[in-house]
Amino acid sequence: MATVSQHSREDTAPWQTHTVFNQVPPLEEPNVFSGNLPLVEAVEREGAGWIAPRAAELGRFVGGAPQQEWGRLANENKPVLRTFDRYGHRIDEVEFHPAWHRLMRMGVENELHSLPWTSGEPGAHTARAALYMTAMQAEAGFCCPITMTFAVVPALRAQPEIADEWESLVTATAYDPRLLPAAEKGCAIAGMAMTEKQGGSDVRANTTVARPLNGGGGGAEYEIVGHKWFCSAPMSDFFLVLAQTDDGLSCFLMPRILPDGSRNAFHIQRLKDKLGNHSNASSEVEFHGAWARMVGEPGRGVPTIIEMVGHTRLDCVIGAAAGMRAGMVNAIHHTSHRSAFGRHLIDQPLMRNVLADLCLESEATTALAMRLARAYDEAHGDADAGENDTDAQLLKRLATAVGKYWTCKRAPNHAFECLECHGGAGYVEESGMPRLYREAPLASIWEGSGNVMSLDVLRALTRSPRSLEVFFEEVELAHGANEHLDARVQALKGQFADPETLESRARRVVEGMALCLQGSLLVRHAPAAVADAFCASRLGEQGGLEYGTLPAGTDFAAIVERSSAER
Ligand SMILES: Cc1cc2nc3c(=O)[nH]c(=O)nc-3n(C[C@H](O)[C@H](O)[C@H](O)COP(=O)(O)OP(=O)(O)OC[C@H]3O[C@@H](n4cnc5c(N)ncnc54)[C@H](O)[C@@H]3O)c2cc1C
Repeated sequence: MATVSQHSREDTAPWQTHTVFNQVPPLEEPNVFSGNLPLVEAVEREGAGWIAPRAAELGRFVGGAPQQEWGRLANENKPVLRTFDRYGHRIDEVEFHPAWHRLMRMGVENELHSLPWTSGEPGAHTARAALYMTAMQAEAGFCCPITMTFAVVPALRAQPEIADEWESLVTATAYDPRLLPAAEKGCAIAGMAMTEKQGGSDVRANTTVARPLNGGGGGAEYEIVGHKWFCSAPMSDFFLVLAQTDDGLSCFLMPRILPDGSRNAFHIQRLKDKLGNHSNASSEVEFHGAWARMVGEPGRGVPTIIEMVGHTRLDCVIGAAAGMRAGMVNAIHHTSHRSAFGRHLIDQPLMRNVLADLCLESEATTALAMRLARAYDEAHGDADAGENDTDAQLLKRLATAVGKYWTCKRAPNHAFECLECHGGAGYVEESGMPRLYREAPLASIWEGSGNVMSLDVLRALTRSPRSLEVFFEEVELAHGANEHLDARVQALKGQFADPETLESRARRVVEGMALCLQGSLLVRHAPAAVADAFCASRLGEQGGLEYGTLPAGTDFAAIVERSSAER
């Protein structure tokens, strides 16, 4: 006997409930570098155009398996802590999915961790920034150990004999995850362990203690007892660790494997059940008389490790740009293929406003990250020439803090808005958007939380008042080209007038600095549609508190078209 549904759908199979339509095709294999026009232009402009062919090759690769598969697999298969082996011996190993190791290998083989330290080309920091921004669009988690390995080099150089031993290992382009002596492997990954239970921002509160084994001092051996509350990538080959000595807080290199091949007393207590990516492990560790060597002078632990911290902060800015770019490309793709109320979403006027606003933020962050990377190139060039406190070095110091504060603060809401462009589909893991969203707040907390970064700006200004002049000289290269920018710069200058209240106003001041720098970069280098809309909405009074509030006269189509990977 025929059923009702069969009667009503005689031309279709029995029990067919519906036809799937108006769903978005997968975003397949875009070239993550070549499709990113603001980045392609920036890398040329900031002095590393030579990397473009390599970056394009990496961009093509990242858009394939790394973005389509590896990132998802590495997150769905969380790392597992193996504290003991089956016989009860402590092993303190973390087991990762093969996709994690593929991502790590991709990072190392593409020199994301080493290029500025090994390349003789000009603009190597800028070149690396382009590679890093491209690779991170596959997955954020692996970039944490890649960044720490990159950033450790200038800190190691504080102790030349230690740098002689380790620098060639951390800059090697081989990846070997086994817990073996690094010299045997010929390569090494580095981590850092500063934060303790009682304090992360204020590391002077560290209670971990280092006892000299043979006299002490820079390069000497110590035994360390204490704990660290956050220690990411605990399978790294060594860590820079802060610990107290009689001379005060000092910096140490603590390997996981001792010179005789046995395991150091570096004990992983547990892995963090954390918000962001699940591919990377972050752990709590205890040092039960762990062996380490001092890096830098006794009592100078913070100035020594700050060399590493500074470079990780640069990567927080590059990473914010990468996350924004990935989210925005997905949002444009989705809205280009999904229709509602008779039109593609991207053609709905209000959605165009949202997308254009997201594009502006992404481009401004990219421009800032790449300008900052050039500051690192110039500052390192000056240091190599034996010069200190040059304008480039002052700009690098100040703009890193300004840039990290602002771009990392902007990232979570940007990720959320990109997610919302997908409607309910964006809330579902398969879309990849929840992964981007969960990761977005991390960089604002890690390596100096928002307030700490704002206070760091004030510290830089106090240490060198010249740095504010250098900053304004950079911003005012765009003087006279945009009325909103000129007016905001003028107003910003007045905000340094009342030192008494400066600390409580620090976020507002740093926000203004970041916006003026971004505005200046876009006015000088981006098409008028982008620069005008950015300045009107962020520096003038024609924008709202949420994305999608650009003024009506904005050239939405031009802005979105420029940032679209599917141009
Ligand atoms: C996923 C993840 C991985 C991490 N990995 C590592 C790692 O590998 N190694 C490592 O050493 N650390 C690591 N951290 C720790 C991180 O660097 C610290 O959490 C961070 O520095 C903040 O320290 P805290 O957690 O102790 O917060 P607190 O120092 O207690 O700060 C709490 C809040 O107070 C604010 N604050 C602090 N001082 C002031 C002030 N003077 N005025 C106003 N506000 C202030 C801060 O901005 C912050 O918002 C990791 C953290 C996370 C989330």
